[in-house]
Amino acid sequence: MTQPTYDGVLAAARRIEAHAHRTPVMRSRTLDAELGASVHLKCENLQRMGAFKFRGAFNALSSLEPARRKAGVVAFSSGNHAQAVALSARLLDMPATILMPHDAPAAKMAATRGYGGQVVVYDRYREDREQIGRELAEREGLTLIPPYDHPEVICGQGTAAKELFDEVGELDALFVPLGGGGLLSGSALARRALAPHCELYGVEPEAGDDGRRSLRSGSIVHIETPRTIADGAQTQHLGNLTFPIIRREVTDILTASDSELVDTMRFLAERMKLVVEPTGCLGLAAARRMGAQLRGKRVGVLLSGGNVDMARFAELLGTS
Ligand SMILES: *Cc1c(COP(=O)(O)O)cnc(C)c1O
Repeated sequence: MTQPTYDGVLAAARRIEAHAHRTPVMRSRTLDAELGASVHLKCENLQRMGAFKFRGAFNALSSLEPARRKAGVVAFSSGNHAQAVALSARLLDMPATILMPHDAPAAKMAATRGYGGQVVVYDRYREDREQIGRELAEREGLTLIPPYDHPEVICGQGTAAKELFDEVGELDALFVPLGGGGLLSGSALARRALAPHCELYGVEPEAGDDGRRSLRSGSIVHIETPRTIADGAQTQHLGNLTFPIIRREVTDILTASDSELVDTMRFLAERMKLVVEPTGCLGLAAARRMGAQLRGKRVGVLLSGGNVDMARFAELLGTS
């Protein structure tokens, strides 16, 4: 498998340019005052289909050869990757089959179907989605598009950080939500090329700190599916492609608790009128926890997505 590189990120940027939104970078005086820093929020909650995942999926699908395109693709995902593959497939006129956990948020499942994806459901606590996906791909000649451990997916995800650095210049620190590490490793490639002095932090849910443990131990740690409101980061392990890049490039991996995520979700909604899903709040929650250490610094945060049922959003904000 070819290793993802910054050249790959540049190629991805060209491929997605006419299709993805160049998302806004937002600031908040309240946030700057809270941290004593200048904070730049890259709003991937405002990306097409509501998350950065569109970047990687579109890049991976548009890199396929014509025969593979025609046969179609299959993806497994707790939600955003599924929607991203379904939408990209529709834009590229390809069939898409999507494997989703039975308890995926209703809005994500409905949206995936709405984008034209054919949804197949599995039990995320009992069944191995990777195996089901591989079998389906083999049986029907489909190309499996994994959610993070794929060179073109990683390069596509790296275009968000590239846009951020292109727009605001070098930063002192960048905070990136972490699940399987596609977004973080892609961001690392962009950071190395465009802002080599910028510290880079991956942020995962406290209930599932496999990434941090992998970094400490030097090999990929596998865990049970963590129970957290950050449903986009309920991954069990980093990838064979993402881990070496993360190990080489990141400053550290931090965690955020569910209550910190809710607190940050409320802040973004109340003060900035931004709807950000729990997983999308990981980076900002960790920056806020770091607090004084960021004083006087230029800080970047990827708000990675905004797909949350409104009923769920209200429920989360109402209970704390
Ligand atoms: C998928 C996802 C993540 C985690 O991305 P990885 O590439 O798996 O690390 C973070 N936030 C949101 C909103 C996501 O959909």
